Amino acid sequence: MPQVTNLRLLFHSSFPLLSPFKPSLSLSVVSKPKRHHSLFTVLSLKRHRKVPPQSPNLARRNNSTLRESKGRDKGVPMEETTNVGFNKRRAEGRDKSDRPLKTLQLKVRTLNPANTISYVQILGTGMDTQDTSPSVLLFFDKQRFIFNAGEGLQRFCTEHKIKLSKIDHIFLSRVCSETAGGLPGLLLTLAGMGEEGMSVNVWGPSDMKYLVDAMRSFIPNAAMVHTRSFGPTLSNVAAIPESSKFPDPIVLIDDEVVKISAIILQPSCFEGSQHVNEEPIMQNASEKGLDGRIDHVSKPLSPNRKTGSAIKPGDMSVIYVCELPEIKGKFDPAKAMALGLKPGPKYRELQLGNSVKSDRQNIMVHPSDVMGPSVPGPIVFLVDCPTESHLEELLSIQSLSSYYADHSGNPPDGAKTVTCIIHLSPASVISSSNYQKWMERFGSAQHILAGHEMRNVEIPILKSSARIAARLNYLCPQFFPAPGFWSLQQLNYSAPDSITPSEGPVSKLCERISAENLLKFTLRPYAHLGLDRACIPCTMAPSKIIEELLSEIPEIEDAAQHVSQFWHRSSETVETTLMQDNDVVVEEPWLNENNLPSCLENIRRDDLEIVLLGTGSSQPSKYRNVSSVYINLFSKGSLLLDCGEGTLGQLKRRYGVEGADNAVRGLRCIWISHIHADHHTGLARILALRRNLLEGVPHEPILVVGPRQLKKYLDAYQRLEDLNMQFLDCKHTTKSSWDSFEGITESTDRSSPGSPINAEYMNKKNSDGPVGQSTDCTLFARGSRMQSYWKRPDSQFDNTVALLLKSMKKVLGEAGLEVLISFNVVHCPQAFGVMLKAAERINGVGKVIPGWKIVYSGDTRPCPELIEASRGATVLIHEATFEDGMHEEAVARNHSTTKEAVEVGNSAGVYRIILTHFSQRYPKIPIFDETHMHKTCIAFDMMSVNMADLPVLPKVLPYLKLLFKNEMIVDESDDVLDAATAAS
Ligand SMILES: [Zn+2]
Ligand SMILES: [Zn+2]
Repeated sequence: MPQVTNLRLLFHSSFPLLSPFKPSLSLSVVSKPKRHHSLFTVLSLKRHRKVPPQSPNLARRNNSTLRESKGRDKGVPMEETTNVGFNKRRAEGRDKSDRPLKTLQLKVRTLNPANTISYVQILGTGMDTQDTSPSVLLFFDKQRFIFNAGEGLQRFCTEHKIKLSKIDHIFLSRVCSETAGGLPGLLLTLAGMGEEGMSVNVWGPSDMKYLVDAMRSFIPNAAMVHTRSFGPTLSNVAAIPESSKFPDPIVLIDDEVVKISAIILQPSCFEGSQHVNEEPIMQNASEKGLDGRIDHVSKPLSPNRKTGSAIKPGDMSVIYVCELPEIKGKFDPAKAMALGLKPGPKYRELQLGNSVKSDRQNIMVHPSDVMGPSVPGPIVFLVDCPTESHLEELLSIQSLSSYYADHSGNPPDGAKTVTCIIHLSPASVISSSNYQKWMERFGSAQHILAGHEMRNVEIPILKSSARIAARLNYLCPQFFPAPGFWSLQQLNYSAPDSITPSEGPVSKLCERISAENLLKFTLRPYAHLGLDRACIPCTMAPSKIIEELLSEIPEIEDAAQHVSQFWHRSSETVETTLMQDNDVVVEEPWLNENNLPSCLENIRRDDLEIVLLGTGSSQPSKYRNVSSVYINLFSKGSLLLDCGEGTLGQLKRRYGVEGADNAVRGLRCIWISHIHADHHTGLARILALRRNLLEGVPHEPILVVGPRQLKKYLDAYQRLEDLNMQFLDCKHTTKSSWDSFEGITESTDRSSPGSPINAEYMNKKNSDGPVGQSTDCTLFARGSRMQSYWKRPDSQFDNTVALLLKSMKKVLGEAGLEVLISFNVVHCPQAFGVMLKAAERINGVGKVIPGWKIVYSGDTRPCPELIEASRGATVLIHEATFEDGMHEEAVARNHSTTKEAVEVGNSAGVYRIILTHFSQRYPKIPIFDETHMHKTCIAFDMMSVNMADLPVLPKVLPYLKLLFKNEMIVDESDDVLDAATAAS
């Protein structure tokens, strides 16, 4: 009976995601995997034909992969509309594949229950930076399960050679950015793997549908057909029957090797305007017939409902119970013989558990007479109890009682013994006496504490990138400051080992240990049951890394000396002698300080620092995270330009845990260039943290400026987690839009409030002459291409936009910025670059100093709009995805080569160029020809460029090359090339 209930519940609650499928599909969910894979394959194929053409990411990935372009001479349609080529169809979002769309099938595996190796392992996502919840791997030879997929999971798995393509199921213990921030990137990476792409089953409580709905705005449907939610659904007009407050565990997986079930945990304040409702499932299913399109039927609100605080989506949490089957004892033929049995079918009957009559004696032979003792299957719990309020409920869950030990610590008759419990609950909850007591109820279970705590912060999880950071820091600490988390040694924290319950001593029975990266608990073979620390990586002190560097490249010591002299001598007197081959760098006119742009005159070190948080394209990799630029304006706050997955983790690596919190508090605006996942999937995590940090503090919602597809995503996502933000479309922050706005503010007295003001009115104004005082004459020449572009009457702009622009202007003013102007670039539909200009300042002797100007290209082909916007810029941060030799790929994928990026900067007369967004083909350092790079430097993750150090920036480049002299290689491995085919 419980089985049927579970089945109903599972089927019904997952219908919002599976609505196009027939109800029979739900049966496959709890059946043996083989059958359900094949069923799914058929259905996903069927579904796929219905995928509408607005699935640009998927279509794009099918088109013009690197391999294809190499194999064909003219594989990609090119149109020369300007002096630089670009893929027009792609830029307009029209490129379609001639191949059939991918079906992203699930893998099919043959399972073996007994002879498998099995363990659970901590994948330390976020453990050094405390930005996300750690993941847990449940491993079997033929099946892999991962619990939670926070930001950074891909990077961690790449680093530790854990193949994500082998993962069959991902389970979420909660649905929020902390536990699922890495999911969008992961789904996209899997979808981009191999010729056909891959998919994975994703499981989560019913509020997962909000996340899935949101992700649809930038992830192809095909990548998400295997997402399933379970458990009671939230409904604002439905009530929960008290009797079903704690339903039986929901069985999600039940095959030969493991049974995984979920127990839903809700915070105790469940009465209110929104209620959790377990709905009448089968009833609905049968009423609606076979098409499976069951509309959400809500029961009327029961009249005796009290009001209280409401349950929000995202409040639901899940306890996962993983039970491995028992291993039956061995059949003993000698015993059977002694009891008068002949070898034959009766042996088999006994092994199947049936009693048989003896052949030679007048007795019944029972299985227990001839079978050795069976070994109970290990049981693993994953517990995520996020708040004290959840804890109250946790303590009263009835279905857990069969797992509790008695007072002597032994399991009562019929009870199951839990082998290992992994606690994802935060240290603050774990340390409460109620939680401690609850832990003790599991007798001898091994407890692994993996929730948020400060214990492992000194140990960088991403050792490879930490190693490079330490080397860069040795060579040039000015541009590569020591990572922030090393300084956490001074932080005063208490490790959970030292946590003692507030009353009474901790029971000796309660074995507890703090989680560490890659710590294992072996489940099979039985002989090895228990903790296994062999995989835990050893730590490497920064001093060791430097020792290793000095023995590998001895000349680096001199190089570091030279670099430090840039800060100690004026550039006129520097005679730079390079390294052992005595290459002398001849003094170039560009080194002359006379070229210093006037905005840098007497610049202060607390004016502006540009921190390149992520400098790789496509997906987070071992050495380079995805796009994010942190604009640090010190006391005036900060901005983020793009916000790829792991941006928060990178901020914490740069500034430390507290420093990053301050950085997030100080954010004034986040600007996103375009909808590709490598540019925005870190946004939700940052915004959710900001909301938490500012709780109870008076503040304004943060302004997020982005392409219109991003609004769709954020609107949908905010049903899950409040992000406390206001959205402004990039297209409303173009030069023409700002001009229109200035026109509105000028004519406020004349126009009646509430009336929409359209661009036509503004065009009239424009034809009379420049509008608005903030017009930057150096930005775009009057009568230029861009000016005529702006005059197109394409934007209706109403009071909402005007109000947003007004708050934007206020925000900019507070940040000491004069303007933030977005401009169209050539990459995908709604792709933008951005220009920031600081307000002018007055120096010590009363002279007016113009403000600096920064331009960020986003992803783009070189284009006139970008060149015009970059005119006279102080710094141009330009993407350089490909090396010069890969021009064809750059054109096909609407990216730039290194040379093209430098040319854009040169032709716009910018002072300094920083290249970024390198293809993951170049794991450590991209390939470049430095002949024309006199004013250019290449970016590395965490590179921090203070405005005051700009004159020195290009001089460091040859030394960086020296640092990587043994590592200028291209990674041609399949994974990387596959990754390069993804939309980026
Ligand atoms: Zn892109
Ligand atoms: Zn990109």
